[in-house]
Amino acid sequence: MLSVNAHLERILSVIEPLAPLDLGLMDAHGCVLIEDLVAKDPLPGFDNSAVDGYAVRMEDVAAASEFAPVFLPVTGDVAAGPASPLRVQPGLCVRIMTGAMVPAGADTVIPLEWTDGGVAMVRIMRAPTEGANIRRTGEDVVAGETVLPAGAHLGAVQIGLAAAVGRSRLLVRPRPRVVVVSTGSELTEAGQPLTPGRIVDSNSPALTAAAIEAGAIAYRVGIVPDDARTLAATLEDQLVRADVLVTSGGVSVGAYDVVKEVLSRLGTVAFDKVAMSPGMPQGFGTIGVDNTPVFGLPGNPVSALVSFEAFVRPALRKMLGATPIERPRVRAVTAKDLTSPPGKRSFLRVWLEVKKGAYVVTPVSGTGSHLLAGLARANALAIVPEDVEKVPAGGAVDVLVLERRGR
Ligand code: AMP
Ligand code: MG
Repeated sequence: MLSVNAHLERILSVIEPLAPLDLGLMDAHGCVLIEDLVAKDPLPGFDNSAVDGYAVRMEDVAAASEFAPVFLPVTGDVAAGPASPLRVQPGLCVRIMTGAMVPAGADTVIPLEWTDGGVAMVRIMRAPTEGANIRRTGEDVVAGETVLPAGAHLGAVQIGLAAAVGRSRLLVRPRPRVVVVSTGSELTEAGQPLTPGRIVDSNSPALTAAAIEAGAIAYRVGIVPDDARTLAATLEDQLVRADVLVTSGGVSVGAYDVVKEVLSRLGTVAFDKVAMSPGMPQGFGTIGVDNTPVFGLPGNPVSALVSFEAFVRPALRKMLGATPIERPRVRAVTAKDLTSPPGKRSFLRVWLEVKKGAYVVTPVSGTGSHLLAGLARANALAIVPEDVEKVPAGGAVDVLVLERRGR
């Protein structure tokens, strides 16, 4: 039997980060930047008003107060958009809107709320500090500044910043394209009527969603029966659009476990027993002319998803160039006894919470690899190492934190 670490190491030694690609801004969302993003121009690009109000000369309004207001004639309006030809002359002012370019001659903006809002003549009832309410050129970003370093993860804010500095395309590592296939002659598409003995394919929806959550582009092919020719033809067809193939089912020792048979033939795929629970049988290798990595995951729904967490997700993160490739881990105290088969690493479905400032986990499911609802109740997986058979209540355990919000 192979250890979890040895199997993962073998996978990561084969998997390479994808080659950089120049992508449109929205396609780059969620990717890793591989160039330094340098601003050509400053942000803001020009001095502009932070408020709706009046552009003035400080010397004209320095003495304004509620009891001794200053009255200034308003010579025009300046709105956001066009550069204003207006110039603020001594003793005069211009009405200005938020984001509008501060007209020449003005050095300060009075907020509308400090005035009577006059259109021809304005009454100013408070004195500002000089330069107030002006957003200065380059205050956020100076020309030539690196606003994002190579390696940055492009989330919503970073996409906004790239747009703000004028970029419509970015050099990134693209998302891996993952093709997901379920194998099993007993499988039926969700929503279709079940005949006796048949079950719904939950793996291809779950694994496709998991691949998307890991940052990949995922294609769900769906169900392929336990027929070697159909499976081989399907996989060969799918290779053109796959950076990674993921199958589920058909990797154990049953008579109709065709994945083993087909993948062994199409490439250099090895099938091993990995010392873990759930998820013992694992296939991994490459197939096709491009040596496309393929994961043959076990069929039981919890085994398939835990195997995805342990092996496929880190591989996809490595292809994306994302760091860290692992989910966050914390050390927690267990509220109940945890048990694990000797020599195997157990991934136990638990609820992780903070109690009195400390992480605490409570098991939420039995250990059966078919208990999918139990996995849905969990927000974390407690990891009991190979050489530990029992963690008593009150003992400490490593916990893999899954993404999940609320109960
Ligand atoms: P196998 O690895 O093909 O022997 O499948 C192991 C168990 O997982 C069997 O009980 C299968 O019916 C079940 N199974 C296999 N594939 C799926 C799937 N796509 N969705 C739900 N259950 C599955
Ligand atoms: Mg099967």
